[in-house]
Amino acid sequence: MEAALYLHVPFCRQKCPYCDFYSVPTKPEEKIYLKAVLREAEIWKSAISGDLSFVTFYAGGGTPSLLSPSFYEKLFEGLGRLFDFRPEELTLEANPEGLNRGILTAYRKVGFNRLSLGLQSLSEKGLRALGRRHTLEKAFRAISDARESGFENLSVDLIFGWPGETLEDLQRELEGILRISPEHLSYYELTPEKGTPLFEELAAGRTRLPEEDTVVSMYLTIHESLSAAGYHHYEISNYARPGHTCRHNLFYWKALPYLGLGPGAASFLENKRYRTPPNLTLYYRALSEDKFPAILEETLSPEEAFREAIILGLRLLEGVSALELYRRFGFDLFQIFSQELEKLLKTGLIIKEGDRLRLSLRGVILSNQVKLYFL
Ligand code: SF4
Repeated sequence: MEAALYLHVPFCRQKCPYCDFYSVPTKPEEKIYLKAVLREAEIWKSAISGDLSFVTFYAGGGTPSLLSPSFYEKLFEGLGRLFDFRPEELTLEANPEGLNRGILTAYRKVGFNRLSLGLQSLSEKGLRALGRRHTLEKAFRAISDARESGFENLSVDLIFGWPGETLEDLQRELEGILRISPEHLSYYELTPEKGTPLFEELAAGRTRLPEEDTVVSMYLTIHESLSAAGYHHYEISNYARPGHTCRHNLFYWKALPYLGLGPGAASFLENKRYRTPPNLTLYYRALSEDKFPAILEETLSPEEAFREAIILGLRLLEGVSALELYRRFGFDLFQIFSQELEKLLKTGLIIKEGDRLRLSLRGVILSNQVKLYFL
């Protein structure tokens, strides 16, 4: 069975004030982490029934570019001994600081063919507001180094709606992005997560996010500018040039199997959802005692799996096919959700085309509300 493989790299140089991903601001001990991850992979191998063929690999984080190319070389060798590991798409998330042509060439050589750069903003004002370490100059240098090192599939991560951002700031940023011309973009709205310094600052009234209608205008401006420039808006927050959708992330959005290694990683296999606790110390301890570090969070019933496939599938702008859902789960979308769909179609949040249902642009903006109809 085809599956996606994710590695969580839980190390960062420092914590960004808005981030609630699991990472520790420490220098990675590569040997120890490699040994632990490969031990975890062995334990999974003995626990999984059936063979998985990994067709994508994604190193996310944290900051995966804090680990050396030789870490990944050894990891890939180890994974190749355990699994059918011949991924066609190998993504490395990287932050501009610490990158140079030499190291990027080495990452390319060990097999990475897709680079996801955490730019977050293309203005000094935005980088400051987000508390990022790199400068704009460093970001541009990382992009040209990536190109010269042979990365032909470049994705950039950006955030909109940061404190102090105006529509004009965003328009200038979009002009800069079009000059860089990445193959793929992830453009996320800044969401203050509880427990982060940004959340505290907002709660104390020391900083403010743009008004909600400005944020909606920003979302629409991004959609219009990137669509006009030939990008396909294929997921709520993701855009791609033709042929450059993120194959790895499609496994998540299509509710297909994926295995996650490392503390904080999630896995979805045979309708079971697992999560490895986000704690490096506990992770090392469990593996040194040969214990399974992941926790089985829930086993989805066929109907729960069907609902989840709809909710995730509607994140994709192509939407879901009732026929495919029926073949996969044995439930009739139009019958089970007839009342909900009547309301959603009447309010124009959803569009029906043949056997497909997809979000309208208004539905995309209000996707959190649409989701509630299928829970
Ligand atoms: S570099 Fe990325 S993962 Fe690390 S703290 Fe900043 S936003 Fe979070």
